[in-house]
This record gives sequence, C-alpha cells and structure tokens, in this order.
Amino acid sequence: MSSAIASNLRPCHHCGTVWEDAPDDAHCEVCHSPLHVRKIDSLNRTWAFLIAACIMYIPANLMPVMTTTTLLDEQQDTIMSGIIYFWVDGSWELAIVVFIASFLVPLFKLVSLIILTVSARRRSSWQRLQRAKLYRVVESIGRWSMLDVFVVSLLTGLVQIEGFAKITAGVGVAAFGSVVVLTMLASLSFDPRLIWDQDEPVSNENAVPSPHVDLQEQ
Ligand SMILES: [Zn+2]
Repeated sequence: MSSAIASNLRPCHHCGTVWEDAPDDAHCEVCHSPLHVRKIDSLNRTWAFLIAACIMYIPANLMPVMTTTTLLDEQQDTIMSGIIYFWVDGSWELAIVVFIASFLVPLFKLVSLIILTVSARRRSSWQRLQRAKLYRVVESIGRWSMLDVFVVSLLTGLVQIEGFAKITAGVGVAAFGSVVVLTMLASLSFDPRLIWDQDEPVSNENAVPSPHVDLQEQ
C-alpha cells in the first residue's frame, strides 16, 4: 500500500483538497492556506509545550488554589490538601471528583503525551494502534479540560451560597489554568500521523525542499 507522501499527494489541512506534485512551500489554490505533509515542527512544538506544562504542574500542585476566610481564621488550600479536607469532612464524592478532575486527568494527559512524543521521535513500531487510540483519548479529554477549573469555581460558588465562609482563588489556579492550556496546545501540536511513520523517508518537518521539487512546475 503506498502512502500519500509516496505518491506525492498533498492534502490541504484546511479545505481537504488533495494536490498532486505540489512543492513543500506551496499554497492551496482553493483556500490559499499553506500545504504541508505533516504539521510543521510537530515534535519540537509538542515537546516545548509539554516541558512548560510539566514545569507549571509543580506550582499548580504546591501553591494554594483556594483561600478560605471565616470569621475566625484564614486557611489556604492546595489541590491535595483540599481533597484531603473534603475526604475527612465526609464529602467524599466531592473529594473523588476533585481528585480525578484536578489531579489524575492532567497527570494522565502529561504522561500520555510524553509517551506519544518519545515513541514518535524514535519512530518506534511499538503498539502503534494502541498509541493512536491513546492519542484520540487524550484529544477527546481536551474538550473537557476546563472541568478542573470549573470544579474550583463551582466549589467557590457552593461555599459562597452557604454563607459561612469566603473563598477566593489562589495563585495556584493561574498555574493550574496554564497547565490545562499548555497540555491542550501540546496535544494540538502533536501530529498523530507520526505514529505510523516507519523508516521510509518522510519529507520531514524541518527538511528544506529539495531542488528537484523546487524546480517542478505545479
Ligand atoms: Zn485548501
């Protein structure tokens, strides 16, 4: 079975038109968006976003996400201490929701993307189908990413309604939001077709168009 790259076909990622023998820096004649075989610089971009997300994951978990002020005292909670607080308090459903949405899901996304990027860089043939499925899962979770932030705002609302304490968002929320956004950007930058690349020469993300292709009439 020959691939689109091998048959010199370039699909337009925007409008779906397929062009034959188009040079690497050509533009789609229908919608004028640039044509490329793969997302540009996919692995490098994914890495950059991933590293940034991993760095931000630390303050997101160590810095307070909520400051609870009551008449008597003021308490600062990180995600983990918040979860423990809910658990001890008897609201274990809430503790589980926050644990899954704010701790497990971001961690799962980071680890999955690291596995996908490392194996794609090595052009590993290990579990290709499973990796493609993993990417689809990560991508579909992406839509629900803001769930974590919603949980915090929901809690703030809930406690505010009960009226015995005042809850404000802490610095941790900003770090947290940035982890969510950075992981989404990382999963958007990752090109799942890289999973299927074998040793065949792919007109690579950072390869310069060869003169042979350049001289060709479109
Ligand atoms: Zn197009």
